[in-house]
Amino acid sequence: MVAEWGIPFNRPSLVGNELSYLERAARGLPHLDGRSYTDAASRLLRDATGAQDVLLTTSCTAALEMSALLLDIRPGDAVVVPSFTFVTTALAFARAGASIRFADVDPGTLCIDPDSVAPLLDESVRAIVPVHYGGAPAPMEALARLAAPYGIPLVADNAHGTFSRCQGRPICAAGRFSALSFHSTKNFTCGEGGALVVNDPADVDRARVVHEKGTNRRAFLSGDVDRYSWIDTGSSFALAEMLAAHLLGQLEARDRVLARRQQLVARYERLLTPFAEQLGFRVRSRIEGCDTADHLFYVLLDEGERRDHALAGLAAVGIRAASHYVPLHDSVGAATFVDRRVGTPACPVTTSVSARILRLPLFYELADAEVDRVVEELVKLLSR
Ligand SMILES: *Cc1c(COP(=O)(O)O)cnc(C)c1O
Repeated sequence: MVAEWGIPFNRPSLVGNELSYLERAARGLPHLDGRSYTDAASRLLRDATGAQDVLLTTSCTAALEMSALLLDIRPGDAVVVPSFTFVTTALAFARAGASIRFADVDPGTLCIDPDSVAPLLDESVRAIVPVHYGGAPAPMEALARLAAPYGIPLVADNAHGTFSRCQGRPICAAGRFSALSFHSTKNFTCGEGGALVVNDPADVDRARVVHEKGTNRRAFLSGDVDRYSWIDTGSSFALAEMLAAHLLGQLEARDRVLARRQQLVARYERLLTPFAEQLGFRVRSRIEGCDTADHLFYVLLDEGERRDHALAGLAAVGIRAASHYVPLHDSVGAATFVDRRVGTPACPVTTSVSARILRLPLFYELADAEVDRVVEELVKLLSR
């Protein structure tokens, strides 16, 4: 075990007014303009995404769970998710009773592959949940065309790409809902947090009730009703005001944070690309017309064994790189929740990529010299 990493994989930073906002919130004081920090942060996100509403939640997982409640997912329903993703993309729907159908990903973008989704669709599918992998857009238009004949809504897991834009549009605007993450490993953080982006005006009122423990407390606070009571299903989904204060400080500094991440990724690309062919790896591909949030940087090795060798070799010199995701369709949980009505899932691209992907350190305070060092050590390891 390495006690302290010379270059960690990720480290959260203070990037703006987090501490002064947090102190006010801890004393029960609102933001200087008199609004709550929750209001200020959700308004900032609403303006950036053009959404009908943005509700801050305790996590991205909680936002996905909210969308399962809002879509009335129940036992017998099927939900399509990529196998190459984090557990809760599937679990949020499985725990509402859905059976999970696993689709494969595109080997170029590592986002869900519409050709793999098409054969999974029928009348029992109640949602498709693409992931905007690394902040790059999932193929929402192609998925919407496949989903339209069955009236299936799209719920985007956008844990990685809060401020990503493509063809001039925020990627959060696509799909009926988007779920954001502010976990400490993500681009903007308050430790644990998230948000549900609501794009359909018809969902706004019910989403506010589900968010507030099934009550019309929100209507009460805005003076629309004179007391609040139990109305519908829901849970304690709302983010604490202190965490919203920290989050607002982070979100206000978004231009600086995103620009720095872009610089770091460009540096990795520039330094690694000349070695790619000779040393047998592929550098993460950029997507035309997109200004993505650059949540991660990876290379794909030609063989799993060389990836494991590189991970161990970097760790030995104090550099923490990472792999991910263990294919969900092969997991223990899948045995319980997989939908056997469509046969045994096969996701060969997911299985292959999961064994070969190598993610390199990437965070706001990573120094140029540290990127150079990671590249130098990696090239040395792969040249042997
Ligand atoms: C981080 C992550 C989540 C979970 O986010 P939380 O805020 O920790 O619940 C879900 N999906 C993806 C793709 C993630 O990377």
